[in-house]
Amino acid sequence: MRKKTVRDLDVGGKRVLVRVDFNVPFDRKTHTILDDTRIRAALPTIEYLIGQGAYTILCSHLGRPDGKVVEDLRLGPVALHLAGLLKRDVTYCLEVVGPEVEEAIRLRRPGDVVMLENIRFSPGEEDNAPAFAKQLADLAEVYVNDAFGTAHRAHASTEGVARYLPAVAGFLMEKELEFLGRVVASPEHPMAVIIGGAKVSSKIGVLRNLLGKADRFLIGGGMANTFLAAQGKNVGASTVEQDVLATAREFLEQARQQGARVLLPIDAVVADRFAPDAATQTVDIDAVPEGWLVLDIGPKTASLYAQEIIDCATVLWNGPMGVFEMPAFAEGTHAVARAVADVQGTTVVGGGETVAAVAEQGLEDQIDHVSTGGGASLEYLEGQELPGVAALLE
Ligand code: ADP
Ligand code: MG
Repeated sequence: MRKKTVRDLDVGGKRVLVRVDFNVPFDRKTHTILDDTRIRAALPTIEYLIGQGAYTILCSHLGRPDGKVVEDLRLGPVALHLAGLLKRDVTYCLEVVGPEVEEAIRLRRPGDVVMLENIRFSPGEEDNAPAFAKQLADLAEVYVNDAFGTAHRAHASTEGVARYLPAVAGFLMEKELEFLGRVVASPEHPMAVIIGGAKVSSKIGVLRNLLGKADRFLIGGGMANTFLAAQGKNVGASTVEQDVLATAREFLEQARQQGARVLLPIDAVVADRFAPDAATQTVDIDAVPEGWLVLDIGPKTASLYAQEIIDCATVLWNGPMGVFEMPAFAEGTHAVARAVADVQGTTVVGGGETVAAVAEQGLEDQIDHVSTGGGASLEYLEGQELPGVAALLE
C-alpha cells in the first residue's frame, strides 16, 4: 500500500516533527562527523519543509546512550554541520523535550529549523513509553518519518508518536519504500539477486522471501562456502555453518522446483590464514587446498556473475563477495560493484558493508537506489512489516 508523504499534507505554517536518521559515524573524542551521508540524505525533506514555510523540528538518535545523557553523544556538532549544509541557522536544543524546547519552538518563524537533543537520552524513547511519545507529539502538529534506517524499531519517535499526529513519509523514506517495495512486490523480469556476506543464517530470510520472485540467485561471500559444502564440495578450512547445511540444501531444492537458477562460485581466492598479508592463490572451486580459506570469489566467477546480471531488468545486491576490507580479497566485490553499476535495468544495493564497498569505489551515482538502512532494509527484504512504516498513513 502506498504511504502518504509530506507532499500529501498542507504543512505551511505548521509545526512539523521530523524523525531523521543522523546516527552518523562519529569520533566521540574529537566530536567529528566522519561521514555526513545520512545528514545529506535528509536534506530534500528539510529543504522542502523550509520552502513550504513550516516550522521544522528535527529529532534523531546518535549512538547508544541507553536512556541517559552522555556528553560526547550530544547532537551539537550534527546541528552545526546541518546548518552549514542548509546555509541557515539551526536552533539546537540541549534537551529532548521540556520548557527549553517549548520556548525554542515558541520563538520560531516560518522556515525555522529546530534540532532536539539526542532522542535516546530519554528512557522513554527505546521503551516506546506512551507518555514520552505524547510529550514529543505535543511539540508539533504533523509528524514526518524520514529515518528509514530506524524504521525496524518500534520506538517513541518512530512509532509511538504516530498515534497522536498525522504521520507521513519524508522523501528519503518514500524512495526507500519505492525501490525496496518494487524489488519484493513487483520486480520486472529477469531479476537477479546477488547475495553475499558472512553468513547464510543472516541472509536466509531474504533468500526465502525472494524465492518465486527472482529468476537468478548469485551467491558469494562467506555464505557461499556453506552452500558449496551443502553440495558436498570441499572448501578447505573455510567456515561452514553446520547448523544451516540442511536449510541451504532446502533452499537449493526449492529454487530448482521454482525454476530459478542458483549460481555458486566456480573459482576462488584462497589464503593460508585470515590475514591481510596471508599467502594467496586463485584456484578452481574443486581445487581448494586442504587447510586454506576461501576469502573471495575468483575472476571467472566475477565475470560469470557480470554476464548473468547485465541483461536483467532488476538487480538486487546485498552482501560483499569476499573479505573486501583486506585488499587481497576485495577484487570480487569490486568487480561485482562495477558490473551492477553497468546494468541498464533497475539496480538496488542494500546492507551496511555492501554500501560501504560501493561508496569506496565511487559508484553510488550509477546505482538507482543505495539503501541507507542496513538492518531495516534487510528486514524489509525479508518481507517483514517495519513498525515505523506501518505507523504511517496510507
Ligand atoms: P552487509 O552489511 O552488506 O549486509 P554482511 O554484514 O552480511 O554484509 O557481511 C559482511 C562481511 O562479510 C564483511 O565484513 C566481509 O568481510 C565478510 N565476508 C565476506 N566474504 C567472506 C568470506 N569468504 N569469509 C569470511 N568473511 C567474509
Ligand atoms: Mg553488515
